[in-house]
Parts: sequence; C-alpha cells; structure tokens
Amino acid sequence: MPKGEVLEFSEGLEEQNKTIEREEILKKLNVPNIIEVYANLSLIWRADKRLALAVIIRDGLALHYASAELQNDPEVVEAAVANTELAWPFASNDMQARRFEIMARIESKLKSGRAERITELQRETQREMEASHEYSRELERIKAIITKNFWKSPDPEKNIRIMAKELAMDPKEVWKVIEEAHTPEILVKVSNKPLVEALDQKKIEMYCLLEALKEAGFTPAVWTLGNKKWQLKKLELTGAKKYFDEEHIFVAENEKTDEKTSELRRIFDKILEDKSRGRPIHVYIVDDKQKEIDAAMGLSQVYEQQGIIIHNFRFDLKNSQADGTKFYGWILEEREKHSNLVLVLDFDQVIADTNGALDQACKNILIRKSKQEKQESDHAMAA
Ligand SMILES: [Mg+2]
Repeated sequence: MPKGEVLEFSEGLEEQNKTIEREEILKKLNVPNIIEVYANLSLIWRADKRLALAVIIRDGLALHYASAELQNDPEVVEAAVANTELAWPFASNDMQARRFEIMARIESKLKSGRAERITELQRETQREMEASHEYSRELERIKAIITKNFWKSPDPEKNIRIMAKELAMDPKEVWKVIEEAHTPEILVKVSNKPLVEALDQKKIEMYCLLEALKEAGFTPAVWTLGNKKWQLKKLELTGAKKYFDEEHIFVAENEKTDEKTSELRRIFDKILEDKSRGRPIHVYIVDDKQKEIDAAMGLSQVYEQQGIIIHNFRFDLKNSQADGTKFYGWILEEREKHSNLVLVLDFDQVIADTNGALDQACKNILIRKSKQEKQESDHAMAA
C-alpha cells in the first residue's frame, strides 16, 4: 500500500461542513421510523453525540446503533433510559454498572418538579433540528436546479446559463463553484481495514484507489460517458489524469447504447492489437451502473472468440460490500487467477465521488448566498 492519509474521526470533516451535513441528516431523521434511518447512517455519524441525542430523546432504543463510545457516555445513556428503560441492554457494561446512580439522577430530576428529561445540549440540538428545516428546503431547491439535466447534457455551457439564471448568479460564478468542488479529495479512497474496526480505534488510514492500484502494478483504462470536455476537465481537476496514459482514456459522448458500446469496442480492439499479450486476456469492467455493465457483458460472445474474457464489478460507494476497499481486495485476488488482465474503470462514482462533489457545490452555493444576504442586510442596517 502507498502512503495513506490518516483521518481522525473527530477532525475528519471541516467543522462547517460537519454542521451542514448534520443538519441535513437531522432533517432526514424527522420521520416516524427514526431508528431505521439512524441505524443506516455511516459509523462516523453514529459516533456523533449531537445526532445521537437528537434521536435518543425521541426513541431511547436508538442507543443500540450508537457508537460504542456513546453507549458509554453518561449523558447519552441517561437520555436513552429516561426515554425508555428498555434501552439499558444497549448501554456499555460500565454504564450498566452505574444503573442505580443514573436512575436515581433521573428520578430526582423528575421529583424536583423540573421534569428536566433533556439537557441543554439536547435542547440546542432540538433547536438546530427546527432551524435545519428552512436550511434544507433552500439546499434542496439549489440541488434541484443544479442536478436538472446538467450531467447528462451534451452542452453543459448552455445548462450553466440556465442554472445561473434560476439561482440568480453569474454563470461564471456557477462554473467556478462547480469546478472548485472537484478536487483531489473526491478521488475514491480505500481503507486499510474495515470501518467497524477503525471506528473503535478512532483512526483510519485511507489511500487513493488509483494510487493503490498503481502501486500494485495495474495500468487501468477509463471508460466514461458524458460531455467529453467536461469529463476530461474532471480528470484534470481531480488529478486522476496523471494515473492514465492519454490513449487509455475513452469518453463516449452520446447516451445511445450503440455509441457507448462502440467506445468499448475501441478499447477491446486496441487490446487485441497488442500482439505481445498472451491469450486469453481477461478484461475487468468496473462501473456503478448496471446498464453499462450489461452493455459490456453483451459483447462477451463476440470477443470471447477473439480471446477476450469479460468480467465485471458493480461498484457502489455507499455499500461496504462493493466499495473501493472491497473492490481493491477483490481485484488483487482476481489477478492471482488471471495475471493477463486489463482493468477498465468508469470515472463518475468509481474513480471519483462526483455526486459528492456536486452536493458540495450546492452547499457552497448556499454558503455564498447566505453570506451575500448577510452582507446586504448589514449594509442596509448601516445605512
Ligand atoms: Mg459512473
């Protein structure tokens, strides 16, 4: 493995981003099946005390899904068992040993007539939850404008103009915000160990997938769909470009299936041209979309006769059974079986989390807009 960056969970996210993200999650949690939503949050968020309290004061059983550290936090445990004593089995052993003390505290709070089942921090979280509604509505409005048709558009320039108009922003500024969100940070990373373990140790080492593949001796190709100029720009902005030979980058512009597969045929034909390669050659298509995988597998029969065996991996960044870490381990195993292999990677949601970048761009637009509004109102106050 190449040198990785170490993420400390407490400082993993920039504070502002974290507040914004927490607000979004809080909104999602404002549903009857709150536990179900909470249970499906990433471990990082289930280790967030504010979030835990917001959920637990509504359903103490959520303690079951909170991080081990929070199950050992007196304030969190107290909130959970004050809500329901059925939450006790989910508290840490240490907290369970302090059961009488904690129950006595809850009792005395109730008896003193203050009925303070919630602490100041919990109250604050509730206020945040309410405030987050307005915020989320505005963010959703921005997201709807930004995502509408842009990414599949053959002409992003034109769409940027439309978006800018709807957002009441300068088109150049919209471009800038979107481009700025496409940084090397969005390149997909793989971890040195499963997240469950890492969370316990509160430390995890992450490696850029492309770097890890390079280090392991792979020379992958890119097979991607979308506006060519914009796809190449993203490769450049994220720094992914330096991991590929220019002739190994294939962009299919048209959404039509025949266009997509024709680009893939170009890849296969190029592979076949290389007479120095032995036969059979195992080609691994890695994509997050089943449609693309099906299109690739549809070529199996034709190419098998020529000595190309097509394999696939359906990538899913949000699923630990199919994310970068899983893929990396899998492809190393596959190479043990088939040393004569070619790796063909999709760009969006495989090499880079471009959906994440887009979300970030929307947040940045919202931040810009609220700063602007604040400045304007400050001006008005001063005048
Ligand atoms: Mg994709």
